[in-house]
Amino acid sequence: MEDKNGLFPDVVSLNGQIITMNEGNPKIQAVATLGDRIVAVGSSESIKKLAGPKTKIVNLEGKTLVPGLNEPHNHFGMYGVLARCSVNLQSPPVGYIKNMNELMEALRDSINKTLKGQWIYGRGYDDTLLAEKRHPTRYDLDKVSIEHPILIVHVSGHLSVANTRALEMAGITKDTPQPPGGVIRKDPQTGDPDGVLEEMPAQSLVARLLPPISMEKRIEGMATAAEQYLKVGVASCSDAGVNFPGIGSPAEIVAYQKAVHEGILHLRMTMMIGVHFLLGPEGKSPSFLTGFGNDRLKIGPAKIIVDGSIQGYTGWLGGPYYIPFKGDKDFRGYPVTPPEFLNPLVMAAHKAGFQIAAHGNGDAAIDAILEAYLLAQKEYPRPDARHRIEHCQTVREDQLDTMAELGVTPSFFVSHTFYWGDRHNAIFLGPERARRISPLKSALKRGIKFSIHSDCPVTPVSPLFCVFAAVNRVTTGGEVLGPEYCLTPEEALRGVTNYAAWQTFDEKIKGSIEVGKLADFTILAENPLEVPPERIRDIKVMEVIIGGKSIYKAK
Ligand SMILES: [Zn+2]
Repeated sequence: MEDKNGLFPDVVSLNGQIITMNEGNPKIQAVATLGDRIVAVGSSESIKKLAGPKTKIVNLEGKTLVPGLNEPHNHFGMYGVLARCSVNLQSPPVGYIKNMNELMEALRDSINKTLKGQWIYGRGYDDTLLAEKRHPTRYDLDKVSIEHPILIVHVSGHLSVANTRALEMAGITKDTPQPPGGVIRKDPQTGDPDGVLEEMPAQSLVARLLPPISMEKRIEGMATAAEQYLKVGVASCSDAGVNFPGIGSPAEIVAYQKAVHEGILHLRMTMMIGVHFLLGPEGKSPSFLTGFGNDRLKIGPAKIIVDGSIQGYTGWLGGPYYIPFKGDKDFRGYPVTPPEFLNPLVMAAHKAGFQIAAHGNGDAAIDAILEAYLLAQKEYPRPDARHRIEHCQTVREDQLDTMAELGVTPSFFVSHTFYWGDRHNAIFLGPERARRISPLKSALKRGIKFSIHSDCPVTPVSPLFCVFAAVNRVTTGGEVLGPEYCLTPEEALRGVTNYAAWQTFDEKIKGSIEVGKLADFTILAENPLEVPPERIRDIKVMEVIIGGKSIYKAK
């Protein structure tokens, strides 16, 4: 098989429109691969000449080939498990639940299939999309069952509601003190808990009673998730919540290892891991530094949650919410991890050598994160730490200046412009702050590399939908939020290819199509740089190739 030029390629793919995401994005039509690597790129004519007698020749027939798409912040493992064993309570445009009755009806369906005393678990309800415009309470859920414990989780993941049975099992009463960083909502008159639990310190009081998830279920869940992710072109993925305190389990890492070894999981996976787990007991015995693993499965950043969710009124804003929360004109959310805990945590994780990914939606949370990063860098300077801010929705211009100075990189939850844009405008943030939500253009102008994500299952996984949202910034109601922050399709594509690869220190092996990099490709029916921008979300994924192997093909 050898000639004077070395080995022949395994595959040459010709006659495509190839978006390389390289410097200058040269126009090429063909690519050759050998093993799991790219060995040549160029014109169809030049690449065709490289084919040997056993080389497979693929005619792309004008289809578009991009670097394997990268989903940089989502909850792959949790999504897979939830998709198989929970009741979906999402509202349109994702689900079908429009009011409290429909929500209760959906839960009732599941009661009929569940033995008395066993848990009913629902996910994805959105109080602002229910006709009643409020959270369900324990009393609503009691109408479904008082014999089964019920726990349902808000679409943001930052709030839960438990029925009376579940509250009793958790021992939550009017006398239970508020846990630091969370809220057990109580009736202002009687003091009785109304069932709504804000943020993990409160949510986990009930969630920790859920039956443990078996290894088999976790791996089955990963197979389910992989199927969905491949359909939308994902080749690389970062799970942003492995081993979270309260709900996580070290079994999640083992499940990932098994899924890879057993050939169930072909996506390249980076695990962001709960900081407390990584730092070890009392923060004194760190393990698994960022980057440990290989190009299939590796340890990513230490994950820290600093605030909640803006649409749950738990995002920590610098100024008050637009429509006051329960009439409180000064209410601006709150920190889940306040600075007195955040600063030493970041210091310890930074000192140990971790990359850090801190969840910050509100600008007050982002201030706190930047301060913690600044303190850590002052004490233990580390160039190129690539500390991240997750979601980064209400980041201000002055904060972007600081991020550029500190080399801090955001992963924007840009799909919010579509899914919640109208309500950010009218309810949570008001027009002034809503038009600036996820200001990707401002980041780009400062040379800040960013990624864009779905936070699946908060919104459905789809890198092309994220690109669509970043380019159009259109809401479900058809408004354009801050047109000056719209990106071009090519700029937006960076957030799911080369910039996303850079954020996980993988820029030498993936994110663009060039010789020596991994042969990871997503093949699209149409070119996202050429279709009308509003159609980017509808482009069909034809094939996903990972490490030179075709892993998914559209039927
Ligand atoms: Zn997340």
